[in-house]
Amino acid sequence: ATTVRLDPGAFGELRESFHGRLVRPEDPDYDTDRRIWNASIDRRPALIAFCTDSDDVASALRFATLTGLEVAVRSGGHSFPGQSLTEGGVVIDLSAMRKIRVDPERRTARVQAGTLLGELDQATQRFGLAVPSGVVTHTGVAGLTLGGGIGWLMRRYGLTIDQLTGVDLVTAGGEQVRADASENTDLFWGVRGGGGNFGVVTAFDFRLNPVGPIVLAGPIVWPMSESARLLRFYREWIAEAPDDLTTAVVHRKAPPLDFIPAELHGTPVVMVVCCWAGSVEEGERFLLPLRRFGHPVLDLCAPKQYTDHQAMFDASFPHGRWYYFKSRDVAALTDEVIELTAHHAARFTSPMTAFPIFQLGGAISRVGEEETAFSGRDSGHTFNIGATCATSAGFDEERAWARGFWSALAPFESGSYVNFLMDEGPERVRQAYGPRKYARLSELKRRYDPDNVFHLNQNISPDGA
Ligand code: FAD
Repeated sequence: ATTVRLDPGAFGELRESFHGRLVRPEDPDYDTDRRIWNASIDRRPALIAFCTDSDDVASALRFATLTGLEVAVRSGGHSFPGQSLTEGGVVIDLSAMRKIRVDPERRTARVQAGTLLGELDQATQRFGLAVPSGVVTHTGVAGLTLGGGIGWLMRRYGLTIDQLTGVDLVTAGGEQVRADASENTDLFWGVRGGGGNFGVVTAFDFRLNPVGPIVLAGPIVWPMSESARLLRFYREWIAEAPDDLTTAVVHRKAPPLDFIPAELHGTPVVMVVCCWAGSVEEGERFLLPLRRFGHPVLDLCAPKQYTDHQAMFDASFPHGRWYYFKSRDVAALTDEVIELTAHHAARFTSPMTAFPIFQLGGAISRVGEEETAFSGRDSGHTFNIGATCATSAGFDEERAWARGFWSALAPFESGSYVNFLMDEGPERVRQAYGPRKYARLSELKRRYDPDNVFHLNQNISPDGA
């Protein structure tokens, strides 16, 4: 590991103006403070700056650029490839900025960038409202929103960015700017899918929509040997699904959780996880054919608190495991895609590996492709192939499995979601946006970050290369 000596003069100045905590390798909490969700990523920054406001962000940024250190920006720390951590650079950490202000009358929420999804849900559900977000509550609002944001309400209320009305942002030059429908509209377009390329977002403004508090939600489970048959049935069944219903198909070995009967623990299963965000009676009617398909070994789809459903996957994706993800979108679950899925699902080893296939469409597809930087609104399904181990033991084999499955799906790729990419190089980022959108993003990057200070992300090159 590199040891970077911080410039004493510049660091002294930073310490005088900075309100939050500054953590260096010699500090006692350093090893805890540098940790991120994916334990397979181990980097040693020279400084972690826990910001308390936009001025702190600007000061930390100035310090990094003056002293020539690489910048990483961290909110929830859930980047699959660990892009919120730098080796030898400065981490601008937003986790101390977590205030949420909900206005139930106007149905809006103003959310600081360090907020986690579960905190946002708790604050908004007090009023029966919600922002469509992701499926694990300890994920950061910031990274998820900037890439798009898919989750259990997406077919009803769209992507997270479809309810975003504005952001406050600190640019690479240290300027504090607003981007919304009337100010810096080009930047507002870019932050809705363009990731952290244009600056450090310090606050998000969302529109809220009525949700629950009771939704009809949860998994219905079959033996994994039913995978292909189930997927063929599922394909027909969801073709008629109204926007109230969002589903994901998950293949995994049944985890040893309290609500799963002991005899199922460790057995390979396939499940359809549902979230029906409309009337429970209507949902029950629509779900009936699914419940009657084959012989489910477990049916946990029931009326429950929306916040409980949001937390359903938390135990399956905890901090500190070794994770490797590959992802593609496909237009449709064709027979070939289904055969491939069933074939590869039967071939992973780890009891922790799980791969969701999210069903898109609905409200996502009714926003124009050009309205936001997010790409792939017409995609049918997103494969999120996750290889997971408790430690490094067995990780190489599990990763090889994910890569093999992902390669086999290549001929069917219709797009990819930037928040599900690993460190896959510039060509893959360009592909994710497509050439026209990438050119527009690159022009925006030239204006807001010409020196590519913010490059630890799914990077958009300022020179279009
Ligand atoms: P971080 O690691 O802190 O940041 C991720 C990226 O965003 C980095 O490049 C970082 O530099 C940049 N960034 C972070 N904060 C800021 C900021 N304030 N300003 C500018 N740039 C910033 N995605 C979905 O859409 N739906 C899901 O259901 C979903 N589930 C997930 C579940 C788990 C367990 C995990 C690990 C990820 C999941 N994701 C999901 C992917 C997730 O959207 C991305 O990993 C996202 O980047 C996480 O945001 P973060 O703030 O937690 O991450």
